[in-house]
Amino acid sequence: MKVYFDTPVPGFHKELADILNLFFGSVQVATELLASVDLKVVITETTGNRDRECHLTLSGRHQMALSAKGFVGEDALTDKRLRKRLHKTVLFDALVLATGKRLPWGSLTGIRPTRLVYEAMDRGLGLDAALLEVSDTFRLSEEKTTLLRDIIKVQKGIKQASDHEVSCYIGIPFCRTRCRYCSFLSSEVGDGKLLPDYTNALIKEIRGTAALMKKRNLRARSLYIGGGTPTTLSVEQLQSVMLAARPLIEQTSEVTVEAGRPDTITREKLAVIRDLGATRISINPQTMFDRTLKMIGRDHTVGQVLESFHLARELGFDHINMDLIAGLPGETPGMFEQTITQALALDPEALTVHTLAVKRSSDMHRYSDPLPDATAVEQMVDFARSRAALHGLQPYYLYRQKHMAGNLENVGYAKPGFACLYNIDMMEDRTTVLAMGAGAVSKLVDPNNRRILRSPNVKDIGHYLARVDEMLEKKDALFEGVGKGVRPPEED
Ligand code: SF4
Repeated sequence: MKVYFDTPVPGFHKELADILNLFFGSVQVATELLASVDLKVVITETTGNRDRECHLTLSGRHQMALSAKGFVGEDALTDKRLRKRLHKTVLFDALVLATGKRLPWGSLTGIRPTRLVYEAMDRGLGLDAALLEVSDTFRLSEEKTTLLRDIIKVQKGIKQASDHEVSCYIGIPFCRTRCRYCSFLSSEVGDGKLLPDYTNALIKEIRGTAALMKKRNLRARSLYIGGGTPTTLSVEQLQSVMLAARPLIEQTSEVTVEAGRPDTITREKLAVIRDLGATRISINPQTMFDRTLKMIGRDHTVGQVLESFHLARELGFDHINMDLIAGLPGETPGMFEQTITQALALDPEALTVHTLAVKRSSDMHRYSDPLPDATAVEQMVDFARSRAALHGLQPYYLYRQKHMAGNLENVGYAKPGFACLYNIDMMEDRTTVLAMGAGAVSKLVDPNNRRILRSPNVKDIGHYLARVDEMLEKKDALFEGVGKGVRPPEED
């Protein structure tokens, strides 16, 4: 669909197009009003000292006229934010009326809805009032408002990090084969020639980061070894990475190792991971259908998932997470129900239910695989929620991505006492994260103003090998930026 905007702030057109994307899939913004334009959006404003009224007219494929009132912000930044929100809301409301579509997350296009609730609570509102404000502003459904409430209640029961605690991440961006939906920085391991050099550079960065933390009197609150698939490394390489990380492992009671792809899991690797301090692993079926696994390029079977899970239990792992994806090609709600039922029959301590997001960088984007529609995916996600609850698994973190089926969400569920601190810290941006490995992003939460300073490592493996010292220096320099050079928090 081609859309033409005639609005007082051209800088908001991208965000307005995001709202249109929620209703129509991918829209194209026309720079001129041509005959080929499908929809024209006109916005005008009347601004007083304290209030602003926004008038919107839709013409073309949909016809609608609507007005909405909002406040004028006290400073330029707040005013820009309020004004953008008003434009997005009036467009959203007009599109609901024009199309009759119901969107569970309303006009929210941002990836971390819980943050909006926390921001409102930071302004002094209680949980109920903050939820009401967010759900009113963004037109959230009752189910999604309840989901946010449940998640925040679990998170509030978990101790916040002190100013001396950080979460740590070690990235191993290699996998045996590339999943068709993958949009992560992960290379196929191929002949494995890059692994020794990568492991050596990573060990250097881990040791340097441990020294930096000691110098700055910081302790690891959690450690997450992810990727890619860390278990793509050989037993010896895994061992050397975890030995280098020992100072961090000794400081925390939560050490996760992603053993995501069952085709990389062996008894020996699991034993090394366990002996060197992993307390939590992830074994990810994604689906319990071999046909789908083949279609999405996972190169393992359901049988291997079950074997790996039982092996991990036999070796004493008592905190296992399983990742599943709702909305995979060719799958129906009935198939997804079978997947959930089989996964829960294994009694994992945690379950992460993703909604398929087909990003431009994935192979799936190029091949137009047959995907279930938004209503089917919503049924899958709702079923996951109710079955997780029946098994005593509570939602404890949530994030959303662009291009998700049905504009839904990814939710982490866990039994009481098994919520993953690292996942919460990453999503809520309330704890400093020190990240190691190619493409890993360190984030320092400035204690003066809770704003975030970022230091991304280079993504290219060759550049990472050559510039690992520089990555360490940049990480250290982050701490010199406290109180200066801040960037504003993410807006919705
Ligand atoms: S296992 Fe994860 S990181 Fe690896 S290819 Fe699949 S989606 Fe990408």
